[in-house]
Amino acid sequence: MKTLLPSFLRRNSWRWMLPVVLVLSVLGIIVWLPWQLRQLETVERQEQLVADTLWVEQSLQFQLLKNEGSMRLLAGEISSGALPLNNQAALGQRLYELQHRVYEFEQVQWWGADGMRLSTNEQISPWSSDAQRVALEARRTTVARFAPPHPALKSESQMLVEFFLPVYDGTTWLGHLVAIYDLNKLLEVTTPWWFAQENQISLYDQHNTLLAQRAALGSGRGIYTHQREVELPGLNLRLHTNSLRAAPSLAPRFLVGSVIVLALGLIFSLWLLWRHVERRLAAESALRAQMAFRTAMENSLVTGMRARDLDGRVTYVNPAFCQIVGYAEHELIGKLPPMPYWAPEAMQDYQDRFAQVLAGTITPQGFETIFQRADGARVPVLVFESPLLDASGKQTGWMGSILDISERKQIEELNRQQQEKLQTSARLATMGELASILAHELNQPLAAISSYATGALNILQQGHLHDLDLLKEALEKARQQAQRAGQIIRSVHEFVKKREPARHPVGVQSLLDTILPLIELQAQRYFVKVQCRIPGDLPLLHADKTMLEQVLLNLTRNAIEAMREAPPERRILVIQAQLLADALPPQISVAVCDYGHGITPEVAERLFSPFFSTKAEGMGMGLNICRTAIEFHGGALEYLPNPEGGAIFRFSLPLATQTG
Ligand code: ADP
Repeated sequence: MKTLLPSFLRRNSWRWMLPVVLVLSVLGIIVWLPWQLRQLETVERQEQLVADTLWVEQSLQFQLLKNEGSMRLLAGEISSGALPLNNQAALGQRLYELQHRVYEFEQVQWWGADGMRLSTNEQISPWSSDAQRVALEARRTTVARFAPPHPALKSESQMLVEFFLPVYDGTTWLGHLVAIYDLNKLLEVTTPWWFAQENQISLYDQHNTLLAQRAALGSGRGIYTHQREVELPGLNLRLHTNSLRAAPSLAPRFLVGSVIVLALGLIFSLWLLWRHVERRLAAESALRAQMAFRTAMENSLVTGMRARDLDGRVTYVNPAFCQIVGYAEHELIGKLPPMPYWAPEAMQDYQDRFAQVLAGTITPQGFETIFQRADGARVPVLVFESPLLDASGKQTGWMGSILDISERKQIEELNRQQQEKLQTSARLATMGELASILAHELNQPLAAISSYATGALNILQQGHLHDLDLLKEALEKARQQAQRAGQIIRSVHEFVKKREPARHPVGVQSLLDTILPLIELQAQRYFVKVQCRIPGDLPLLHADKTMLEQVLLNLTRNAIEAMREAPPERRILVIQAQLLADALPPQISVAVCDYGHGITPEVAERLFSPFFSTKAEGMGMGLNICRTAIEFHGGALEYLPNPEGGAIFRFSLPLATQTG
């Protein structure tokens, strides 16, 4: 059972049970209350009917008593002789008056002991046997009595009943005063109109024969009924009331109905809410799982992740990022630029990048820069920035992934150093080879000259002057060897001459355009800014482009290396050119200026000497080759101390037109 229910339902079932139980209770009360009210009303109506029926019964009894009283008055007059029985006219008159005073009397009769019958109505029907029996009974007991009811002759629906009042003069029976009641009229008189409006009132005899009925507004509904026995002398009647009222409605039905509908709606909405919560909880747990997955993923990443809002405030960093920069998460979150991991020398670079990021012009390929760890060490990094979008697609900031490329950089640096060493040894090998060839080639003629000269000296010292031919021969041979040595020198010169520059008209700007990317590459490594100040209208030079490129690359490399330790704001490399129109012939001077450590007078003296270098890995041939190359072009290379600190290397070359 436990496994069949979703876990959250098991957990939270009581939370749902409470509102459901409450709603069901309210619903139960709402259904029970009208039903209860209806019950109460039913009882109340029934009680009302009982009371009213009692009232009618009493009214009936009272009416009959009152009528009996009126009859007894007349009987009194007869028995006292005030109304003589022989005065039939007077008696008839009194009977007539009595009948007209009492609405429910159908007929009033005098039935004398002599058998004479005097009636208010001409039609005198013979007494039924029941009536005769009742009359005898009344006479015998001296108590007035009713005879059993019977239908009227003229109409079956009209039920009549006789009331015999025996009249005595002392103990002598004088006769019966008889009143014939019309039971319908009796009911009419004794039932109040308001009661008749709401009820069907009927009179039955003991055999359940309907005697009279009053139903002003139709038959009763049979919902509220009551009956009472009406006991009269000689006659037992049953008064039956049947209310016209319908059972009380579950009033107000509309109200109850709407409350039930609302309650059902409430239960339905609770169910919907429950389902919604169920889905939400499921989504939440899925989200939690995903979050845990993501957190684990972020924590295990070796790539640093950093999120920033649109103002540049750090909003998130992952452990890998903290490890790269050496700062804890709480030291970074909420920080605005400048960041604690920004190296002072790269500050401008960061500002520029940051401006690019904010402007959204950053390239997706990423960019290289350095970060300064908390311990001051520099870490080369590769940064990729991309916009951070929220669920609605609106940008809320920037997400950066940062790769520590120290190892790659180290490998690159090693490669570069190895390459340089190879080049150096290659160059040394070439020079050494050249030197050994020269030495070898010159060694022979020089040794020969030396021996011929020694021979000649010996001849002179020994005074063998007769041997002039021998002396001549020795000197001749020495001359030949000297010529051979000259030949060797010339052939080397020829070899060098073959490598003479291939001169063409070339512009300083186009020269720079070719090598500037290389210079920039070097400069970037040390966060050096390169400034070129080349006037647009500069005339062309007549030079070997490749050699001049080599010269400029050498000079700029020296300048950048000299600024390695310079403060960030002084890391500026300036390349400027200028026309020296007054010189003869007119020349263009090109200067490479730096703000590095500068050159001491001792170093300055030996600057252009071959193999002079103050660098551990330097060969000391750069400046020497540069000077040679410039001199090949008929120009001059010189060093000037920079008045603002640092060094200036300047060379000037004749213009293209002058050299033709
Ligand atoms: P290398 O660069 O191999 O040392 P160079 O002939 O190019 O050989 O330079 C010789 C020396 O001159 C360098 O070792 C350095 O001491 C010095 N030097 C050259 N250029 C500069 C400069 N711009 N600033 C300071 N010193 C320089």
